[in-house]
Amino acid sequence: MALTHKHLEKLFRVPPTKGRIRLRNYDAAWAARDHFRDLKKDALKARAEKYLKTNLAALSAAQEVLWASDRYSLLIVLQAMDAAGKDGTIKHVMSGVNPQGCQVYSFKKPSDEDLDHTFLWRYMKALPERGRIGIFNRSYYEDVLVVRVHRELLERQKLPPESFGRRFWQARFEDINRFEHHLARNGTVVLKFFLHMSKAEQRKRFLARLNDPAKHWKMSDADIEEREHWDAYHEAFEDVFRHTSTKWAPWWIVPADHKWVARAIVAAVVTRAIQDLDLKVPAVSRGRERELAHARTRLVR
Ligand code: AMP
Ligand code: MG
Repeated sequence: MALTHKHLEKLFRVPPTKGRIRLRNYDAAWAARDHFRDLKKDALKARAEKYLKTNLAALSAAQEVLWASDRYSLLIVLQAMDAAGKDGTIKHVMSGVNPQGCQVYSFKKPSDEDLDHTFLWRYMKALPERGRIGIFNRSYYEDVLVVRVHRELLERQKLPPESFGRRFWQARFEDINRFEHHLARNGTVVLKFFLHMSKAEQRKRFLARLNDPAKHWKMSDADIEEREHWDAYHEAFEDVFRHTSTKWAPWWIVPADHKWVARAIVAAVVTRAIQDLDLKVPAVSRGRERELAHARTRLVR
């Protein structure tokens, strides 16, 4: 059975729902085995890599038209636990696109200036302009993830006391949904990816990093520290998916225990999203065509 975009949507796109989303119902080690039963692991991987390559060529072409038509932009939000492969995904998926049409922002702890504004402010300033693909490596979702797991971070946000009620997080989800709705209605296509890696796989990757001096720079104390809060993060993520996967800005839960799988899926979804805009290279007027023909004649002479 071939693997179509419909399959990907059904398997990994979180439907707008009121019900609880459970991450344990999503297989982090998924590798399309049901679709390619006859293939051994290496053949499957080679197949995915070929699929990625095809998609990257299509993405490059799609991005050219996005740029030329100057009407829409694409915002890609990437969230994940540490070592799930956000950086590698950005590097591979964006490897084929024109650097002029693409921008990446990595969000760290907010500055004092950031904290003097509402939580969406710093992300607003980093949105992609029309014609471009913008990637948020972490995003405003940290304000309902890390900030939810570590309440002391919320205190630093200097919010007025009356904003703290029983519905505090619900209110944040509403703010986010409306913010994304605003973007979608004004020409920014919003795609959100959670790179879903198992806890065992994270351990493996951390150990690989610790065993390789060339990778030590990638490790921070916070990484091991945050792993202790794995369950709290997963609960916070589940709540995020439940409340903020909308028709206009859906979440994708991407299996990421196999890096080649995650990359292939993200590339396919991004490419498809631009193609669905059905953009054409802008046409010029008859009069302008005549002028250009004239210019051509002069150059030839
Ligand atoms: P890294 O992406 O590994 O360089 O780490 C960035 C760090 O910044 C992570 O520990 C995040 O949890 C933290 N961070 C990102 N956004 C926020 C935020 N809005 N509030 C607090 N911490 C954040
Ligand atoms: Mg890190």
